[in-house]
Amino acid sequence: MFDSLSERLDSVFKKIKGRGRLDEASIEEGLREVRLALLEADVNYKVVKDFTRKVKEKALGKEVLKSLTPGQQVVKIVHEELIELLGGKNVGLELKGKKPYIIMLVGLQGSGKTTSAAKLALFLRRKKFSPLLVPADVYRPAAIEQLQKLASEINIPSFGSSSNMKPVDIALQAREEAIEKGYDILILDTAGRLHIDEVLMNELVEIKQACSPQEILFVADAMTGQDAVNVASRFDELLDITGVILTKMEGDARGGAALSIKSVTGKPIKFIGVGEKLKDLEVFHPDRIASRILGMGDILTLIEKAQSSIDEKEALKLEEKLKTAKFDLEDFRTQMKRIKKLGSIEGLLKLIPGMGKLRDQLKNVKIPEKEMAKLEAIINSMTKEERKNPKIINASRKERIAKGSGTTVQDVNNLLKNFEQMRKMMQQMMGQMGGGRRLGMKN
Ligand code: GDP
Repeated sequence: MFDSLSERLDSVFKKIKGRGRLDEASIEEGLREVRLALLEADVNYKVVKDFTRKVKEKALGKEVLKSLTPGQQVVKIVHEELIELLGGKNVGLELKGKKPYIIMLVGLQGSGKTTSAAKLALFLRRKKFSPLLVPADVYRPAAIEQLQKLASEINIPSFGSSSNMKPVDIALQAREEAIEKGYDILILDTAGRLHIDEVLMNELVEIKQACSPQEILFVADAMTGQDAVNVASRFDELLDITGVILTKMEGDARGGAALSIKSVTGKPIKFIGVGEKLKDLEVFHPDRIASRILGMGDILTLIEKAQSSIDEKEALKLEEKLKTAKFDLEDFRTQMKRIKKLGSIEGLLKLIPGMGKLRDQLKNVKIPEKEMAKLEAIINSMTKEERKNPKIINASRKERIAKGSGTTVQDVNNLLKNFEQMRKMMQQMMGQMGGGRRLGMKN
């Protein structure tokens, strides 16, 4: 997702951050490169123009130029503007009024409507809804069977549509069935065409008028870039859509559709499809995606996962320790215990800022949890003083620790060496990131 755009921006910002002080000319030059990077990512040219103008206005402000870290300030501004571009805050489904709620999926053929209908049903069931999947694409051969099959795979009921029914009748009858059987949400998979045509649009308008859906989500294939944006605009004009599901995001290295669709249509992206499996649907969080684009990891998702075991105050204290290299083996052990509670370390590492480049390498690496247990045993065998100040661990202490933990002196040496390296790396990383703001959650 966004890989090529990320790489381009990374190299632009490296140059900017490499300079101690910035003047107007160097900011202008950097922004020119940002502009090119966005255009190459197939972002709508008007959107790009607007974006760079806003960033420029803020970046040329006196405070930025005077600050000690102007490069980082510029990155921060780009980050904020990217969030805006992606839609600002996450907008969830707005399900109000009388049940059963109706969500209507619309879009071109092959965009991923049928798959997204099933994904959405699974998502909603997790949120304690009881959905009914309604196949209303009576034109594409086997579209009805496709959705019914997906529905039965995830054990979600589907309406018994047949291809000789009118789509609007399917919708109305399905609603009756939902009321009768107590389903509280209908997900309507409508017909798509290869191109927009009047007959199709009229039919969608007719369904909309007949059953007033709470949500009309336009499903678009992210890989089609600006085409997706143009088609979204047309659907919006005729149907007044309530939001967008962008599919196949995991394969979209450029991100042009994701970065343009909100600005152009004014409608938010609500979900993204990130794979063919039915679990591969994510709620769209503009701020998190912006961070991922800028290689800052997705610390909020990490924090969300961690929140159950660490509170904000503690997080800030930890961050301060990391920055000032006061992070000791005692802290390390505490964090290790917490991490163990969170699940796979491999998955968590990917969300950590600065780890973006390691992501591919990490794909095939399993971090051995056994190794963690060994490290913990070694640290447990140290005295509190040794954990606080590992420098005092001399040869005889090492021998004692190795014996106590059932390991070797070499193991103890390795741990101490790696810990020191890690501490330095963390300190450097925190410095580069401008630390506080990002880890401290709120800007
Ligand atoms: P429809 O014609 O709009 O109903 O499209 P389908 O739901 O049949 O999807 C078309 C193809 O796109 C199928 O092969 C799906 O498996 C695939 N697809 C849908 N969503 C995603 C996604 O998020 N990622 C990937 N990789 N494939 C997807």
